[in-house]
Amino acid sequence: MTAKSKASFDTLLSMDYRPLEIEKEIREFWEKNRIQEKLMEHREKNNVGVLGWVEGPPTLNGIPHVGHARGRVMKDLWFRWRTMQGYFVPFWAGWDCQGLPVELEVEKLLGVKNKRELLERVGEERFVEECKKTIMRYHKEWVEADRKLGMFIDQKKAYWTYTDEYIEREWQYLKRAWEQGLLEEGYYVVAYCPGCQTSLSSAEVGYEGSYVEVEDPSLYFKFKVADSRDEYFLIWTTMPFTVITDLMLAVHPEAEYAKVQVGNEKWIMVKQRVEPVMQELGIKDYSVVETVIGRSLEGVKYDYPFKDLIPKQAELDKHPLVHRVVCEDFVDVNTATGVVHLSPGNGEEDFVAAQKRGVPVFAPFDDEVKFTSEAGFFQGVFARDADSMVIEELRKRGLLVKADKIRHEYPTCWRSHHKLVWLARREYFLRTDRINDKVLAAAEKVEYFFEAPKNRFLSFLKEGKPWCISRERVWGAPLPIWVCEKCGAKTFIASKKELLEKALEKPPPNFELHKPWIDRVKIRCEKCGGIMHREPFVLDTWHNSGASPYARFTDEEFARYVPVAFLTEGIDQTRGWANSLLLEHVILTGKAEAPYKAFLFQGLTQDAKGRKMSKSLGNIIEVNKLLEKASADVCRFYMLRKCSPIDFMNFDLNEMNRRPYQVLATLYHLNRFFVQNAEYDGFNPQRHTLEWAKNNGLLKKPDFWLLSRLQKAIGDYTANLEKCEFNTALAELEEFVVETVSRLYVPMIRKELWTDDPETLNRRLAIYATLWHVLKTTLLLFNPVTPFLCEALYQKIYRRLDPTLPESVNFEKWPEVDESLRNRALEEEFETMLECASLVYSARQKAKLKRRWPLRKMLVVASEKDCKALQGLNDVLLELANVKEALYAETLPEGVKAEVDAGRWVEASEKGISVYLDIYRDETLLGEGLMRDIARRVQSLRKELGYVPTDILETVHVAGLDDESMRLLGPYIGEMAELVRAKKVQLHKNQSEIKVQWHEYSLDDKKVYIAIS
Ligand SMILES: [Zn+2]
Ligand SMILES: [Zn+2]
Repeated sequence: MTAKSKASFDTLLSMDYRPLEIEKEIREFWEKNRIQEKLMEHREKNNVGVLGWVEGPPTLNGIPHVGHARGRVMKDLWFRWRTMQGYFVPFWAGWDCQGLPVELEVEKLLGVKNKRELLERVGEERFVEECKKTIMRYHKEWVEADRKLGMFIDQKKAYWTYTDEYIEREWQYLKRAWEQGLLEEGYYVVAYCPGCQTSLSSAEVGYEGSYVEVEDPSLYFKFKVADSRDEYFLIWTTMPFTVITDLMLAVHPEAEYAKVQVGNEKWIMVKQRVEPVMQELGIKDYSVVETVIGRSLEGVKYDYPFKDLIPKQAELDKHPLVHRVVCEDFVDVNTATGVVHLSPGNGEEDFVAAQKRGVPVFAPFDDEVKFTSEAGFFQGVFARDADSMVIEELRKRGLLVKADKIRHEYPTCWRSHHKLVWLARREYFLRTDRINDKVLAAAEKVEYFFEAPKNRFLSFLKEGKPWCISRERVWGAPLPIWVCEKCGAKTFIASKKELLEKALEKPPPNFELHKPWIDRVKIRCEKCGGIMHREPFVLDTWHNSGASPYARFTDEEFARYVPVAFLTEGIDQTRGWANSLLLEHVILTGKAEAPYKAFLFQGLTQDAKGRKMSKSLGNIIEVNKLLEKASADVCRFYMLRKCSPIDFMNFDLNEMNRRPYQVLATLYHLNRFFVQNAEYDGFNPQRHTLEWAKNNGLLKKPDFWLLSRLQKAIGDYTANLEKCEFNTALAELEEFVVETVSRLYVPMIRKELWTDDPETLNRRLAIYATLWHVLKTTLLLFNPVTPFLCEALYQKIYRRLDPTLPESVNFEKWPEVDESLRNRALEEEFETMLECASLVYSARQKAKLKRRWPLRKMLVVASEKDCKALQGLNDVLLELANVKEALYAETLPEGVKAEVDAGRWVEASEKGISVYLDIYRDETLLGEGLMRDIARRVQSLRKELGYVPTDILETVHVAGLDDESMRLLGPYIGEMAELVRAKKVQLHKNQSEIKVQWHEYSLDDKKVYIAIS
């Protein structure tokens, strides 16, 4: 019988928790039985309601790493939990396929350095094909990562942001903007990346990690006041190339300006900066000869020095407003000289200052940010390369004061890390600044769960700048605006069908809504009959993914699911997806409503040392590689348990494999312990229910206590999930499993399970009924976090013992608190009792008495209430304390007091309870203690040899004890046999007496030998 039962158990649940084997098996089980599909079908028909959700699409330009995994695990947790609560969630995948991130990835693969080279060498048609190939290659990696992680996301219903269907629906957002006058063409200063050769939105400029410390020139120079003998404006800049496009100087109207005598020149600068600037310039000999108010300088003409180099500047100089001083409040009088030179072609404030005065804009740049022929001498030079040329030309003209270097924070491109340049360009804008009140009102109504990310998001939204949505790139959703070459009229085309109807020539069959094909479609101008060409722009990729709530659903689904119930993405999406979703939804609906009711921003994931994961550091951990060797369950549990979802997480593999593994191993072993004992006693979950046990009076206080604690665990856990406090929720669940069930409850009942006395069978069955209920409920609570382990235990234990259970644990109902099982008074009594037991442990420690050594007596001195509670739990306390007898009193009896002083009793006290432990051990106690020491070693040998707890051993042999120990042990041979589940125990003087496989152990510095036969 022993051998047989051992074999059948091993195939079901291995002796150790081996998560990789379990996960492989369960993955196959899910796939073979279509569990994910069946779950979706089932919930679509049977639900308590619908919770909308839309995937924040991962960009298919790279391989998924642990940072991605953390976000996906949170999504899957939310989905499984809500589904178990009975909701239908359209948990459908989605992929972000277009835009700069994908283009740059492909450029790298093709080995081209910039857009010009790309268009010349590769061409748009092939480039688009390569982009598609690339996203498909990465898609495979992502699907595999989802599979390994156990994501129950529906891959078949995935949306792809590059399909015609998706793009057509994205156009509906723009159409609404067009109709409301919110989509405008404009000449405006935008941040431009010379590497990517496209403009960026202001949201992208502030993107995580885009500001880096760089070295720039620090240049002091002077412009001569026109028609003066010796007066100059003193100016400072870090971008000398902007002198080429300079058109004005600005001063602050209210500030006091000084004329500073330096040698035989007078330099004009703000008065409060004279001293620090002169110090910086190393000029000791100077004096302020006159001061004037900034306002009085307005209109003063200065000599622009490069008129000979730049013919266009000579021409502009004739304009009555050009190369003159203006007054502006934005001039900062606390830095530099308080005189700012303005280049409307290269600065946002400069541009606005020019616009409002009617000053022309001079922006002689091509797409690579090289100067055009309009810049004369500087033609063909990349803007930032002109810095040194400008310095040299100023030097030649005697206008250079000081050229130095400065290290400062400067925005770079979030994709290619080139230094950004501000340029006046023709772009298309969504005038989201005009609907900012609505946007803010919408954002205020959203639940963010945590204050910090909420404030960060709202303060970003308050900036409320227009959204530059045009990009001078290739692989993106095209801007569907056609312009007449003759009269300049514009037409907005809202669908493929409309476009094909209006096309002058029928496009080829492979036509799609992408460049270059769509650029070849020309239409007739309705106003003048001229030919209309498409505006060559594609849309900002954030507009593309931000269209998903409408673009990924049908009209009917959109009405049903949006605003969605919950979204979660990384904190870096504050300026990204969270923002574009919101803006587009307000434009589409015209309402002050966000497309999401709740948004959880996750903290980012870093390496074990707290460094950002990056290719250059080589510390990126790829999900697929990680999960070849590591458990998905342990990883999921670790990611959710370690810190709050909004915290930055330091991902540490060693840490992951320690405590998180142990917690899951404990859960595993508890279930294994239960099933082995329960099956041995013929437990039948359909007959031996909790009701049956209760009705037959078979439950004892520890069982009621455990059931009550379970209700608390269910309530607290669920409440914390609601608040997205996943780590707190799991800390409580971990405590329940490891402390309450494993460390406390099991020791309380273990002895009752050791016997196979038929008289007490029903009591054992009642314990199994309790464990069945508690452990199964715990599995359901764990399922959203560790779905593989839960499914495995569910199938191999619960569903095997009760085949009427649903096909998968995922079909189970989410546990709810059963108030009838909650007993707060009993929980309090147990608190007191456990407090008392831990006092016994400290008393034992003081007296160096091992916990296994039984002691005769203890005395508890406590309040009347506590004594009463303890007396009610006397048996449990004695069991945990390993003491034969306990006495309770409200004050210490006189007789004992004397004995305490004499050292016979040892004491420990806390919280108004004192425990006195009688430390005297007579021969019987010594014998019993020795027996327990040896029994413990037999138990570990049993485990080592692969016996399960229910196996009955034939004979246990013990050898190597001295005569005294043999004598003490003699009377306990029978009890020991029962304790270690053996038919008999034999003592031998030495090992040679019998030929068996001896195992050596040490016992208080002596050797003892044990064998099982
Ligand atoms: Zn770039
Ligand atoms: Zn026209």
